[in-house]
Amino acid sequence: MKILVINCGSSSFKYQLWDMQTHKVLCSGLVERIGDAVGRLIHKKNPDTEAERKTSEDGVFPDHTAGMMRVMALLTDPEAGALKELSEISACGHRVVQGGEEFTKSALITEEVLDNVRKLSPLAPLHNPACIQGIEVIMKILPDCPSVAVFDTEFHSSMPPRAYMYALPYEYYERNRIRRYGFHGTSHGYVAGKAAEFLGKAPEEVNVIVCHLGNGCSISAVRGGKCADTSMGLTPLAGVIMGTRCGDIDPAIPAYLGAQTGLSAARIDALLNRESGLKGICGLNDMRDIHAACAEGNAKAKLALDMFCYSIKKYIGAYYAVLGRVDALAFTAGIGENDNVTRATVCEGLEGLGIAVDTAANNVRSSDPRAISPKGAKVSVLVIPTNEELAIAQAAQRVLRELGKSL
Ligand code: AMP
Repeated sequence: MKILVINCGSSSFKYQLWDMQTHKVLCSGLVERIGDAVGRLIHKKNPDTEAERKTSEDGVFPDHTAGMMRVMALLTDPEAGALKELSEISACGHRVVQGGEEFTKSALITEEVLDNVRKLSPLAPLHNPACIQGIEVIMKILPDCPSVAVFDTEFHSSMPPRAYMYALPYEYYERNRIRRYGFHGTSHGYVAGKAAEFLGKAPEEVNVIVCHLGNGCSISAVRGGKCADTSMGLTPLAGVIMGTRCGDIDPAIPAYLGAQTGLSAARIDALLNRESGLKGICGLNDMRDIHAACAEGNAKAKLALDMFCYSIKKYIGAYYAVLGRVDALAFTAGIGENDNVTRATVCEGLEGLGIAVDTAANNVRSSDPRAISPKGAKVSVLVIPTNEELAIAQAAQRVLRELGKSL
């Protein structure tokens, strides 16, 4: 049983072909600069294994259809591919960023579902139109293959109103759908499940604080496998400090900035999303570069790192209070999985909450799920590699099973 996972951007898309028996990726790749004079395709067979075989080519991809057609040819290529025929693909799982209140679960894509996803585009103008484009292209190229939409927001749909409402006039919630939706939900759900598995317990028995720290960063409070609260909001700009995003700031700042500088709303939006966060403070947004700058005595890099860890620590404290009892604190994504300094700094001083890090365990580099807290600690501090693509493939498989579709 093979499932193709598609993650579409406005001028690029990533894909992975999963074998659902072995949970291995057969092929993966990226098509970028769609619509440019020259585009690029990177395709891997047996990625991240000793048998990896990489194909990269420049080509003209006037639109997503052209890029996807080339990918289909590679998937069935005797050398580069893993399929004899495209009909071996049992289903496609599509990452869709914003599912609004309409979609609390992954959904088999029908015309009606697609229409509803289109209606949600104003809430995710940069993301949903690209996801829709990917779905439309696949439905055209593989008309007999069921497609499933897996929403970034769906894991967070269990939040209670006190967590998702903003204290604005109520009509803006009713009329404009302004509320906290949360993002990275596929990762938070996957990691919370893996954390419970690591502890040898059922998800229902475990309370976890998940710290997804990558280019984008978000924290969530997960009670018994369900999201109780999360740091991102109406958009992925809210919450902890990120690479280029400011995270939580005084909501009066944008208007003040506009009045003081004459910058337009669109310019301020770009400033908060792309020029702020770690980059805004020290000019660097990759954590590896920030550590290198800190080692050279760069005071702004040290300040950026300090602010970053402090903003995460505050959310851990808040979500500890939300959950009442915390069994595990799980770090994931690029920084969470790889950066022992961030993990140690975030946990420093939290011993009173039962949160501590064992230095030797924290310094081990590994791609396996692991505990980094001292033995017998009240809260298990874990590093759990995320795998959003596998989670999307599994969600697609689940939807089809629930609908009684044989794969
Ligand atoms: P992601 O969005 O999950 O791919 O995470 C990307 C981010 O992870 C990069 O911007 C880096 O800041 C960070 N990262 C990746 N590898 C390392 C590493 N070895 N040490 C520290 N940070 C890392």
